[in-house]
Amino acid sequence: MADRLYIFDTTLRDGEQSPGAAMTREEKIRIARQLERLGVDIIEAGFAAASPGDFESIRAIAEVIKDSTVCSLARANENDIRRAGEAIRPAASGRIHTFIATSPIHMEKKLRMSPDQVIEAAVRAVRLAREYTDDVEFSAEDALRSEPEFLCRVFDAVIQAGARTINVPDTVGYAIPELCGQFFRRLIEGTPNSDQVIWSAHCHNDLGMAVANSLAAVMAGARQVECTINGLGERAGNAALEEIVMAVKTRRDVFDLSLRIDTTQIVAASKLVSTVTSYPVQPNKAVVGANAFAHESGIHQDGVLKHRETYEIMRAEDVGWKANKLTLGKLSGRNAFRTRLKELGIELESEEALNLAFARFKELADKKSEIFDEDLHALVSAETSGTEREHYKFVSLSTRTETGELPYAEIVFADHGVERRSHSTGSGPVDATFKAIEAVVKSESELQLYSVNAITSGTDSQGDVTVRLARDGRIVNGQGADTDIIAASAKAYLSALSKLNSDEERAHPQV
Ligand SMILES: [Zn+2]
Repeated sequence: MADRLYIFDTTLRDGEQSPGAAMTREEKIRIARQLERLGVDIIEAGFAAASPGDFESIRAIAEVIKDSTVCSLARANENDIRRAGEAIRPAASGRIHTFIATSPIHMEKKLRMSPDQVIEAAVRAVRLAREYTDDVEFSAEDALRSEPEFLCRVFDAVIQAGARTINVPDTVGYAIPELCGQFFRRLIEGTPNSDQVIWSAHCHNDLGMAVANSLAAVMAGARQVECTINGLGERAGNAALEEIVMAVKTRRDVFDLSLRIDTTQIVAASKLVSTVTSYPVQPNKAVVGANAFAHESGIHQDGVLKHRETYEIMRAEDVGWKANKLTLGKLSGRNAFRTRLKELGIELESEEALNLAFARFKELADKKSEIFDEDLHALVSAETSGTEREHYKFVSLSTRTETGELPYAEIVFADHGVERRSHSTGSGPVDATFKAIEAVVKSESELQLYSVNAITSGTDSQGDVTVRLARDGRIVNGQGADTDIIAASAKAYLSALSKLNSDEERAHPQV
C-alpha cells in the first residue's frame, strides 16, 4: 500500500494573517466545514492565545468538526499551551502545534535565548501539551535558516518529550527545491528515532517556490504538507493546497502516495475562501483560476475536442469545476433556500436570521434570475458580518453621471443606528460616493485597495467589491456585493469603516 500524505490546512491561521483577511467566527466555521468536506486531515483553526475571539472560534470549530483533526497554534510558553489545550478540548481529535525559533538570528535577536535554553523551552512546551492531547506537533520556526546539527538536537529532545509531528518551516520563503530536499534528508537521517514521527513541510512563497519546496520535501520523506486554500497567507502566501494535491494525484507515477482529499470539493473551497477573505483568485492561477481549464488557442481546442488528453493533464470536473451550476431561482421557497444553505455548511443562528437572509435572497432574485452558490455565500457573509459589527450600515444611494458633467452621489447610511445623509461630487461615481461617506465619518484612513469582481458570469451578475483601508498600521478589508457596483462599493467602504472601528488587536505569530 502507498504511504499516506497528510494534508494540514492552515487557511484559518496562517491564511488569516494576510492583510485584512480577518474572518468572523461564523465565517471560520463555514470554511472549516468545507475543509472537512474536502477531506483535509488537520485543520489549524487559529492561535488560541491571540485573543478571546480567536479562542472562541477554535472552540466552536472543535465542537462541530468530526472528520478532521482540529489544531491550535501555541508559542512555547505555558499560557499559550494551556489556552490551546482548552480551545481544542471539545474536538473529536485535537492537536496542539507548538513552536519556537531555532535560527541563530531569531534566537539571538528576537528570543534573546541561548541554544540550550531554546531546547529546554521546547521540551517543556511539548511535555505540557501532552497533558492535553497525545497529538502534539513541534515546529522549529525559521528552520531553513537554522543549523542542521542544532535542529537534530532539538528534534531528538522534543521527540523524546512526546512530539508526534516534526514541522520544518521555511518561515521566510528562502528555500530552493533541491536544497530543501537535501535539508530534509539530512534532518531525517541525523535525528534519532526519526521514523517514529511524521515529518512536515511548511513553506512560504516569497520567491514563488512554496509548492516546489514542499514537494521536494515530500520526495525526501516528509509525509505532511502544511498549506492553504488559494495559497493564502502572510506576505506572498503559503503553498497552495490545490496545487500540492493535484501535483501528487496527477504525478502518482512520481509520488506514489495516497491522499484522503476529495478533489471535487477544491473549487468550492477556493471560491468560499476567496469570497470570505476578499482575496480574488487570479484567472491564470493553477487549478482554481477561471482560465485553468480554458483553451483559447484554436490548435489546442481542436486537439482537446478530438482527444482530451492531447493538452489536458487533469479534468476540470475532477477538481469541481462545472459542479456548481444554477442553485436557486426566483421561485425557490424558504425551505429550498434553507436546504441549500445547509448543504453549503451554513447554519444561521436563529429563525430570525434565516428570515432576514431569505428576504435578501428574494430581493436579489428579483434583480438576478439565477442564483448560484457564490451568491449565497456573499449574501450570508454580508448578513452575519452586518449583525456582528454594525457600526455603519448602507441604506440607500443615488448617483448621477453624464458625459461632460461632474459625477454626483447622494448616500443615506446608518451611523451607530442614526440615519445620516450626505452628498458629494467626485472624479467618478465611486469616488463621489466615498467622499460623501467621508464627509460624515472623517475616518482619516488611507484607501489601499479598491477592486471589483463579478461573483458569477453574465451582465446581471453581482459585483463583489473589496475596499482595503489602513489607519495607524492596522489594515482591514471591507466587502460589499450588489448587482449595482456603485452600491456594492458603498457597502464595502462602510463595512471596512466598521471593521476599523471594532476589530480587536491580536498577536500574529509567524511560523
Ligand atoms: Zn507560515
